[in-house]
Amino acid sequence: MIVARTRDELARELERLGGPAPDGRARTLGLVPTMGFLHEGHLSLVDAAKDAADAVAVSVFVNPLQFGPGEDLDRYPRNEERDRELLEARGADLVFIPSVETMYPDGEPRVTVDPGPMADVLCGAHRPGHFRGVLTVVARLFGLFRPDVAVFGRKDFQQEVLIRRMVRDLEQGVEIVGGPVVREEDGLAMSSRNAYLSPEERAQAPGIHRSLEEARERVGQGERSAAVIAAGIRERIDAHPLLRTQYAELVHPDTLEPVGTVESGTVAAVAVFCGATRLIDNVSLRPR
Ligand code: AMP
Repeated sequence: MIVARTRDELARELERLGGPAPDGRARTLGLVPTMGFLHEGHLSLVDAAKDAADAVAVSVFVNPLQFGPGEDLDRYPRNEERDRELLEARGADLVFIPSVETMYPDGEPRVTVDPGPMADVLCGAHRPGHFRGVLTVVARLFGLFRPDVAVFGRKDFQQEVLIRRMVRDLEQGVEIVGGPVVREEDGLAMSSRNAYLSPEERAQAPGIHRSLEEARERVGQGERSAAVIAAGIRERIDAHPLLRTQYAELVHPDTLEPVGTVESGTVAAVAVFCGATRLIDNVSLRPR
């Protein structure tokens, strides 16, 4: 596996990877953007990228632009050596690990991607500027890699929706593939931030997913009111002493607009403080 740290290394190695495929056509490139401290959720996206493209590149970059003041930029978990081993074992062809200076050689970019009103809801309502930072770094990575395909996890549901929208609205010509949420055995969505949890918090954290599963069951039994389902999720989560719901909302899967009645594909999305750690999760609902 190639490790590139500078723009020159990246350009050189991408050129080598882009040679002709065995059948003579140009090799396609799949990109998996991450912030590192990798787990099975990230690695499942590498598998999806391998299915969708001839060569797979992964970026590992903790993007300062997407962190707000008082958030966890300075203590975000990192383990570069382990990330490299995991990616190599999973069959990635290239990993790009730029410094902040490499990624942003002119300092903070003056021109950024405006995510529009779809960033004013769900996580965006509580993290001003977050999705501007995400879309800006993803657009920059698309420019650096020129991938044919890029893979994003559904765990970050709003992020995936906004990236699909950016690619469409800005004609970026990258195929977006979404990967399902990968969970621990007890249902907790895998996240690099789970490393922050104390044993007591970790023991209560699966209550987040259980509340979403229960919502799915109620919908399966015939409940169609989004308000009733959302209130049930919140109540179930907040019954845990160490969990506090920031939002629990039912939205349209493509527009992120709130729904009154649950339809097929309606997404139930939550952000929950588990102690001081903010975790997110979501499920897709299917009325009978
Ligand atoms: P991050 O390193 O948190 O920025 O995540 C990088 C990519 O991995 C994003 O597309 C995430 O949605 C995805 N991802 C993170 N956790 C999971 C998970 N548990 N299941 C599936 N994808 C995930």
